[in-house]
Amino acid sequence: MNNQKITISIVAPFYCEEDMCDLFLKKVIAVLNELNKPFEIVCVNDGSTDNTLANLLQAKKNCPNIKIINLSRNFGKEAALTAGLDYTKGEVIIPIDTDLQDPPDLIKEFIAHWEEGYDVVLAKRIDRSSDSIAKRITAHLFYKVHNKISHTKIPENVGDYRLITRKVLNAIRELPENQRFMKGIFAWVGFRTATLEYKRDKRKAGKTSFNVWKLWNFAIEGITSFSTVPLQIWLYVGILVSLLSFIYGSYMILRTLFFGVDVPGYASLLTSILFLGGIQLIGFGVLGEYMGRIYMESKRRPTYIVEGEY
Ligand code: UDP
Ligand code: MG
Repeated sequence: MNNQKITISIVAPFYCEEDMCDLFLKKVIAVLNELNKPFEIVCVNDGSTDNTLANLLQAKKNCPNIKIINLSRNFGKEAALTAGLDYTKGEVIIPIDTDLQDPPDLIKEFIAHWEEGYDVVLAKRIDRSSDSIAKRITAHLFYKVHNKISHTKIPENVGDYRLITRKVLNAIRELPENQRFMKGIFAWVGFRTATLEYKRDKRKAGKTSFNVWKLWNFAIEGITSFSTVPLQIWLYVGILVSLLSFIYGSYMILRTLFFGVDVPGYASLLTSILFLGGIQLIGFGVLGEYMGRIYMESKRRPTYIVEGEY
């Protein structure tokens, strides 16, 4: 190990990306060499079940700037990213997807903006045509809902690909939660921010590890991590429903007083019971989501476990 100070730290999470390792590293190293600043590439192997680790170890033989953090199992992208961030030494840190959907060429612009004095440089996708229509619509909906009900606004179409300075990273590491919704955490800390625009490419090899169910849970994680509105809204739903039933009840009493009793009413009774039952269950469900998170958080387990550093 030399004592040269590292300027740029790349953080690259790998999960079953055996076909991407060489392609990715070659591309990134080419860009970094152009910049001519001391760099390191922190590769986190997030419990891959294929040859990712072997490929990374092989790549390291030709490039000592590669650092490999091997997690003990698959902890998910957010945890892998957190692990990578914790092991960086550089003045600026750039997390990047390893499927080349985040174009490495942008690193040059990141650095240019950092040199102008920005602490955070974001990369915003102007073109999501590489995503399916369904993913685009649901992503848009997620940002809309999230930013409506949460004080921490996350910028739309900005992923984890960005530059942050050490100062920002230190702030991020002050946040003690072990379930980490990184997009929200990045946004929460603030700092002087510039935004670049880019076109998101298609994955170069392998396939995405996020299916609809995973994305849905990711969205819920995002909202419950940064907003308590879903909890508080039930007060108002309750008030509204009680108010309506009070009005309806009063109307029934008056009608009985003036027009006498009429027995039929099966259908309306059943519907209102089922409807209210449904609303209550939704309320419980939301409580459950938060309780589950409090429960997991209260265990104070580490976010990830490292098997070894190579
Ligand atoms: N990834 C990871 N752990 C996981 C899932 C994904 O480290 O459990 C990494 C993956 O190797 C890639 C990045 O996270 O570098 C983005 O994953 P992917 O391309 O599957 O997500 P998408 O681009 O479809 O959102
Ligand atoms: Mg991808």
